[in-house]
Amino acid sequence: GAIASPIPAVTYGPSPGVAKLNANENPFGPSAKALEAITKASAEGGAYYAYPAAMTLLDMIAERHGISRKNISLSAGSSPILSYTALAASKKGKILGPDLFWDTTSKAPEKQGAPEIVRIPNTAELDIDLDAMYAAIDDSTGMVHICNPNNPTGKILAPEKLRDFCIKASKKTLVLVDEAYNELIDEPPKHTMIPLVKAGHNVVVARTFSKIYGLAGMRVGYLIASEENTDWINRYGMGGYTLNQAGLAAAIASYNDEAFLTFSKEKIYEGKAMVMDAVKANGLTALPSSTNFVFVNLGDGNAEYFRQVMAEEDVLIRGIYRTYTNWSRVSMGRIADVKRYVDSMPKALEKMYA
Ligand code: PLP
Repeated sequence: GAIASPIPAVTYGPSPGVAKLNANENPFGPSAKALEAITKASAEGGAYYAYPAAMTLLDMIAERHGISRKNISLSAGSSPILSYTALAASKKGKILGPDLFWDTTSKAPEKQGAPEIVRIPNTAELDIDLDAMYAAIDDSTGMVHICNPNNPTGKILAPEKLRDFCIKASKKTLVLVDEAYNELIDEPPKHTMIPLVKAGHNVVVARTFSKIYGLAGMRVGYLIASEENTDWINRYGMGGYTLNQAGLAAAIASYNDEAFLTFSKEKIYEGKAMVMDAVKANGLTALPSSTNFVFVNLGDGNAEYFRQVMAEEDVLIRGIYRTYTNWSRVSMGRIADVKRYVDSMPKALEKMYA
């Protein structure tokens, strides 16, 4: 008879039949070139530590930004280096952030007993209130965390305002700018704070291959900082030993693949246009989005209930963030899946309001 396979059945992608729009992933990746590189790197290098590939990626990033390898720290996605930065900073003082931002990594110190993140209310438009953030910096502050464009709002700050803030604030404390969604906006170079690192300000910038590059499952991210800050943050991690051949190969193959990046961005914007049309057609509003997700205002609806009724249609989205009970985040995905969200919206809203 047949011998049972010793390899258990395993699912790598979304469960069949499910529209997965809950995690800001990008299903248009990995690119064809990345897939080819993953196979080659795994076959030739899977048995070996990934040091040479890590050096190649460092050189590519360094060349793009006119910096040196010593200004870059790579990790398995940007989450580890963001957490290390928060942990390192928490030895110096409290972490200061807006009320609404991607706070997962900056919560690492408080989970280990450090004081909680000091949170500054967002403005009425749900922007980060930079003036209030600056005013809140004092001797007890160890780091300010800015996420731009921000998650879950999708909003972007005016670049001149953010630049002024970073210059002023970094004279008092370390400023961390998480730019996970930078490549998805119009004119990314206009919005990045990397030039401030080069100019010697106490600013660190985080980037990732998880978003426009479509490599969330391949785990590659990086931090750009002064040599001193890179050194200090690296002490919390194991650097190259946390990297893998397949992920590095995918990142290297995608980094300068302009045709793929343009395609990826077009698909994400196509999805966002569909969502924005549906939002309007259903009498709702949403924040303008500079990312691959949309923050929808459900009016007097409840985002957790909306998540549940959407899940009944096998459309997965997010529930409530903090106290923002009527705000619902939907990530872009395959166009057919975005269409399922759009098509399910009238019924789900009716159920929610019933
Ligand atoms: N930064 C922001 C703003 C995010 O939204 C996310 C993930 O959603 C990350 C960082 C972490 O991504 P990764 O660890 O895959 O680089």
